[in-house]
Amino acid sequence: MPNQPNPVCRLCRRERVKLYLKGTRCDSPKCAIERRPYPPGDHGRGRIKESEYLLQLREKQKARRIYGVREKQFRLYYDKATRAKGVTGAKLLQLLEHRLDNVVYRGGLAMSRAQARQLVSHGHFQVDGKKVDIPSFHVKPGSKVEVRQRSRGVDRIVESAAYAAGRTIPNWLNLEAGELRITVVAEPAREMIDVPVQEQMIVELYSK
Ligand code: SF4
Repeated sequence: MPNQPNPVCRLCRRERVKLYLKGTRCDSPKCAIERRPYPPGDHGRGRIKESEYLLQLREKQKARRIYGVREKQFRLYYDKATRAKGVTGAKLLQLLEHRLDNVVYRGGLAMSRAQARQLVSHGHFQVDGKKVDIPSFHVKPGSKVEVRQRSRGVDRIVESAAYAAGRTIPNWLNLEAGELRITVVAEPAREMIDVPVQEQMIVELYSK
């Protein structure tokens, strides 16, 4: 029987790029975009003429899907980015990177952002010694994110930490794997943020 399309993987195929939403599967030959690198649906392989507006919309949807953020909250991040110093698009990505669920994922204590979000919501993490169960919590430079003492035996965390041993941790984070601790050592510059998003198109979309 052929494999059933995975609804999460359809998002990657829609955007025609790997969004890394499924943990270990994303690095395996089972990755749907490796096998079917065209959009899902009857017209997936046909030519789709996209207007400038549609292309901008796609970039925004892609960024939302990567970070798992709803439209309203994404717009709030954008508004905050416009008020901050610096280039708005880069600032937007920087704010998204500082989310606690993203730090847990990037730092190697979860296999995907979705898993990180769930682990955080279930109260397995603390920031600077205090329990935080809000995935959108903004982790500042200098802060330490740790697995709480009582959660150190949780299978998914142990497995993720083992898996992360083979992953590249970005320079703005420091993982002490034995301690299950991530320190945010700096703000990530745009070139350190490894996401296939043209953020300027998002700025153009929202500036209309
Ligand atoms: Fe699915 Fe991950 Fe491949 Fe995306 S990158 S298609 S989520 S397996």
